[in-house]
Order: sequence, then C-alpha cells, then structure tokens
Amino acid sequence: MSKYLININGELFDETNALISVFDRGFLYGDSVYEATRTFNRKAFRLNHHLDRLFSSAKKIELSPTLTREEITTQIEKTILASPFENINLRIVLTRGTNSDLGLDPDLSSENNLIIFTKAIPPNPDWWLSDGVSMIFHTKESSHKGPLPKSGNYQENVKAFKEATKRSAFDAIMVSPEGLVLEGTTSNIWLAKNGLILTPPLSDGVLEGLTRKTIFEMALKSEFRIQEQSLTKIDFLSADECFLTSTTRNIVPVTMIEGQKISNGKPGKLTLELLKSYLDYLNLQN
Ligand code: PLP
Repeated sequence: MSKYLININGELFDETNALISVFDRGFLYGDSVYEATRTFNRKAFRLNHHLDRLFSSAKKIELSPTLTREEITTQIEKTILASPFENINLRIVLTRGTNSDLGLDPDLSSENNLIIFTKAIPPNPDWWLSDGVSMIFHTKESSHKGPLPKSGNYQENVKAFKEATKRSAFDAIMVSPEGLVLEGTTSNIWLAKNGLILTPPLSDGVLEGLTRKTIFEMALKSEFRIQEQSLTKIDFLSADECFLTSTTRNIVPVTMIEGQKISNGKPGKLTLELLKSYLDYLNLQN
C-alpha cells in the first residue's frame, strides 16, 4: 500500500505519481502558503481555523487565491474520504501557481496550484512524555514584527533544525536578533514559572499556532493561569517547566535546553496536567 495519498488540483495520486511542474512558484521561490492539520475519525481538526489561517497567510504575502474556500474544502473532504486511514496528517499547500516563464512577476501565473498531502498519523513516541525532549537556541538572521504568515519559505527554520540535528538535539528554539525567544521550527514554545504558564506574544514575530490558540481558549474554562509575555533565553533556562505545542504533536515536554536541564530535567507536572486537559478538550470537540 502506498504511504501517501496526494490530491493535486483535484486529482488523486500516490507518492510516486504525484508530480508538479518545475515552473511552480512554490518550487521556484517558496511562493506559497500552507497548513498542517490532522483528522480524528475522518474529520479534519479545526478545519475552519486552518482555512482562516491559510487565507490570512495568503493575504500577508499578497497571494489572491484563485480557488474559493468552498472549492478548497471540497478537495480536502474528497481526499480524506479517499484515504484508507481514519486518522491522518493533512498538509494543505496553496502555491501562487505555475509560471509561464522564469521570473519573479506574479502575473506569470494565472491559477494557483492546490496540493493536499495525506498519510497515516503515527502515535507520538512514549519517550517524549517519559523523558521530554532537548532543544538548542538558534538566533534568526532577521526579525519580523507581528504574526508570521505560514508561507512555503522555511529556510531559516530548516537551518535551525539542521543545527539542532547536528548537535543531537530534538529541535531548535528560534530567537530574534534582539534576543527574544520566539518559537520552535514547527511548534510554539512555552514555559511555566511559579504556577504561571507563559508564551511569547504573536507581535514578537510568532506564528499563531492553532494548538496555542486552542490552549488559550481552553484556559478560559479552566484553572490554568496562562498569558502572553515576551521572554528571553534566561527566562527559559531558569523556568520550572518548558514545553512545545503543535497540531500533530499536541504538547511535548522540553526537559533540556543547550545541554542544561530545565529544573530537575523531568517533564513538569503542570505540562502533563495541561496535556491531559488539552486531550480531554479535543475529545469534547470531536
Ligand atoms: N510555529 C511554526 C513556525 C510552525 O511551523 C508551527 C506548525 O507547523 C507552529 C508554530 C505550531 O502551529 P500549530 O499548533 O497550528 O500546528
């Protein structure tokens, strides 16, 4: 059985036959936006929020979608139904389209390309929860004010991830040139100190993760004390607990940064309680 089922502009392919033009602007210039979500029992999780973010990312890079929200939704639903798996990772990529010639001019393409990747979702490895993961800090070359678009240009994140791998860490925490801690390469980052849970504000140049958004929504109905605050490396190294969040991984404890243990180097109590409440909250939503 093939690993992937991929929808390209409405047609379904396995991974060996899913091909796109070398003139696609996503390939040539990273001129695309994307979303990553998952399904629970063949239903895309928070699809409306993901489509909101896809359209808002498109607006941030001045990409006017040539497909409507309804057309994109129809293709997503068609792909989910055709997948042999109930619980899948879903990646939705919208590129500005296939250029008629080399060149930056956006008018060289007239129709977007919509590519939807699906594959069975693997369970999180047990050790993430029993031991937690280790991270390094990676300072970005340039800063960005305000919430980031989820665009196809992840060069800085790739660089950060490569550095983490080279140094045998799980992933990197990206830091602005001014020294503000921002996010993981594909996750949001949080700390807990004296019972308070903190994460950097979007205005520091952070992607509005939907797990992050859901945790804030859940916190309104719970005892957790959660707020946004600009944070530095020292805040993280001296935190009681640290964790990362993303749609496909939920909440993962971070127990070491730059080779230093966070507190006693074990997954934190508040982190594990938050994870339990988050999973209960997700079950209620589905
Ligand atoms: N930050 C970045 C840079 C990301 O790429 C992602 C997810 O891919 C996230 C944060 C977490 O977002 P979400 O919770 O929507 O998966």
